[in-house]
Amino acid sequence: MKMGRLMGRSDDIKLTCHCGGVELRVRLVDGLATAKRCDCSFCRRRGAMSADVKAGDLEVVRGDTLRTYQFGRKAEEHHFCGVCGVYTHHRRPVAGMEFGVNVGGLEGVNPRDVDPVPWMDGVNWNPEGTDAVS
Ligand SMILES: [Zn+2]
Repeated sequence: MKMGRLMGRSDDIKLTCHCGGVELRVRLVDGLATAKRCDCSFCRRRGAMSADVKAGDLEVVRGDTLRTYQFGRKAEEHHFCGVCGVYTHHRRPVAGMEFGVNVGGLEGVNPRDVDPVPWMDGVNWNPEGTDAVS
């Protein structure tokens, strides 16, 4: 599946962590057009590419091993598998892009199809108008 050219809301796509403890079903807002990396203090360490998903377009099919990490102003919830450690998704306080999901965990998607990889200005990102802690 070449998702790089896919436009618009995707069909349901399965997303898993590495060990399979976490499984999501997601619909991407605009295919891989929103796939990006981020240079905030957390994402620069995590390294994964994320793509945007609207609230209501993400379902946790299996989540017994899901863990949540928050930092700074705690506006976002970063979710990962507590067994294999892989990031699956995060929730943001932004309408229309409430979730970012791990492009590398999407079934049938090779992250190399996103080339070049866009970068989000996470260091200066401040969706709530509060002091950025990034
Ligand atoms: Zn896992």
